[in-house]
Amino acid sequence: MTLLPTTYAPKVVLITGASSGIGEATARRLAAAGHHLVLGARRTDRLAVLAKDIETDTGVAFPHVLDVTDPDSMQSFVSAAHDRYGRIDALVNNAGVMPLSRLDALKVDEWNRMIDVNLRGVLHGIAAVLPVMQAQGAGHIVNIASVSGLRVDPTAAVYSATKHAVRALSEGLRQESRELRVTVISPGLTRSELTETISDQDTKDAVAGQMGIAIPAAAIGEAVHYAISQPADVDVNEIVVRPTAQG
Ligand code: NDP
Repeated sequence: MTLLPTTYAPKVVLITGASSGIGEATARRLAAAGHHLVLGARRTDRLAVLAKDIETDTGVAFPHVLDVTDPDSMQSFVSAAHDRYGRIDALVNNAGVMPLSRLDALKVDEWNRMIDVNLRGVLHGIAAVLPVMQAQGAGHIVNIASVSGLRVDPTAAVYSATKHAVRALSEGLRQESRELRVTVISPGLTRSELTETISDQDTKDAVAGQMGIAIPAAAIGEAVHYAISQPADVDVNEIVVRPTAQG
């Protein structure tokens, strides 16, 4: 009898922001690979449709309401997953918003929103799964950052700050643990609903002008799948995936 390598065993994977874009594409890719998913976001109607789609294709997924800015909501998301499957192999911290604008537009509420979702949301996810993963002696945290975590552009100062912070805290987490795998995936321009969070019309128009070269969200889902499917002793720490035509 030939046993499958353990790396191909189904994993229990939680995905935040699974209701659209990269989160949804990642869910579809991981479900196709046989992993068991827990899908989190605020738009539960979208999650329900996605979970049904996945189950129609013989995948395993269940939707759970999640607001990553609320630590209690994150805790109940993680607890529901753990109650259902008895373990958590990976958390994909994907939820994010990108209301770009120049700093002198003083959109302070939007700055705070980006910090709450893109940075605090990731920290809330880590806080909720870390005790479970430490008790298991294994686990994998995949944080979706951005090429804006590697560079800074006008109108993206606060967004870039949150993504630089995600890369920094990911490296700190990696250094603190010899049992957890930590991966940062930094997408470039990717087709999704992300630009809908931009309220500044000039910025929205400028970004729309760049989106012609954007790659499909499935390209990022493929990178998540690659990182997750490596053997337990192989920790893929950083992946940058951007359009060939992006400067
Ligand atoms: P989308 O807007 O399509 O998806 C964002 C997701 O985040 C949605 O599912 C949304 O769900 C969720 N979300 C937003 N706020 C919250 C919240 N408070 N609680 C829970 N979920 C929330 O954009 P993308 O797929 O592009 O974005 C995914 C990630 O990829 C983000 O972190 C983004 O910064 C990053 N990224 C994207 C790039 C791109 O070009 N598209 C480039 C670089 C990085 P809901 O509204 O239902 O809660």
